[in-house]
Amino acid sequence: MIVVMSRKATSEQINDVLARIKSMGYRPHLSQGEERTIIGIIGNERKLDPDQFTIISGVENVIPILKPFKMASRDFKSEQSIIKVNGVHIGGNTIAVIAGPCAVESYEQTLKAAQAAKRYGATLLRGGAFKPRTSPYSFQGKGREGLEILAQVKKEVGLPIVTEVLAAEDVDMISEYADMLQLGARNMQNFALLERLGKCNRPILLKRGMMSTVEELLMSAEYILANGNPNVVLCERGIRTFETSTRNTPDLAAIPVVKKLSHLPVIFDPSHATGRRDLVIPMTAAALACGADGIIVEIHPWPDEALCDGPQSLTIELFAEMMEKVAKIAAAVGRST
Ligand code: PEP
Ligand code: MN
Repeated sequence: MIVVMSRKATSEQINDVLARIKSMGYRPHLSQGEERTIIGIIGNERKLDPDQFTIISGVENVIPILKPFKMASRDFKSEQSIIKVNGVHIGGNTIAVIAGPCAVESYEQTLKAAQAAKRYGATLLRGGAFKPRTSPYSFQGKGREGLEILAQVKKEVGLPIVTEVLAAEDVDMISEYADMLQLGARNMQNFALLERLGKCNRPILLKRGMMSTVEELLMSAEYILANGNPNVVLCERGIRTFETSTRNTPDLAAIPVVKKLSHLPVIFDPSHATGRRDLVIPMTAAALACGADGIIVEIHPWPDEALCDGPQSLTIELFAEMMEKVAKIAAAVGRST
């Protein structure tokens, strides 16, 4: 159950609600966002009567939510959320495109990718400085130097930056450079990191774990929301199945499923979902046709020389082609680019 305090609720009224929840043997969870205060009631809420709370002064609304994810659910907020990333909207009528290299390798490579991203209509630049690699001998990213390159390229090209964070202790440092923090598939259930991201002031791109269910994805989003950060965008990036012809299996049905269950925007990553350059454009088209709010795609000026994920990275020419397709599909589904 969630108790929504009115905008004008005083701290005494909030404390009163917290005390009452405790006195009933439940644990309150306080989220004080910029707009309003929300108190989650943790415990077996089936035994609770919402009317016990609606009568308390300062309480605007009480929402009994039996789903394990609450603030992320459509029951909590029926209208679609629009997440703003330094002025760029994700989740509205416009399809958002985040493009850039898998990893920042050099200033020249990142600049060329960013210029192409901008030229063909992407609104955000991606690029990993801290890379989660399966092998400890693979390129691990340029770390802080990579962030410096991203900052320089942002100054030159003007696209806001999305970059991955691997560790809770890096959140503040990366937030100085990035406009949006990406939490990768391998860390989707890193609960300490999720809690930390809930307390940071940057929007979060939360990727679905390769072995996670939609419900688990929404529970991870709930960690961020419940810790005070309402700005979460979800990303379907393919899951592991027995199929070997693609790197992962794009679970496109998850897109309309998530949109039904949650008000949070959901975007699609055709690069990691397939691992194959030749499949990026068709799967992008399919994802947009079934309701994705945007695409995050890997592009590289010289994919054959990429230090990371070259085989799935689009050349600049193919990216231009992808963006033509995006415009056509967007128009067909009544959206714009
Ligand atoms: C990435 O975006 O480069 C990445 C590592 O993605 P994922 O976490 O989905 O594997
Ligand atoms: Mn990658």
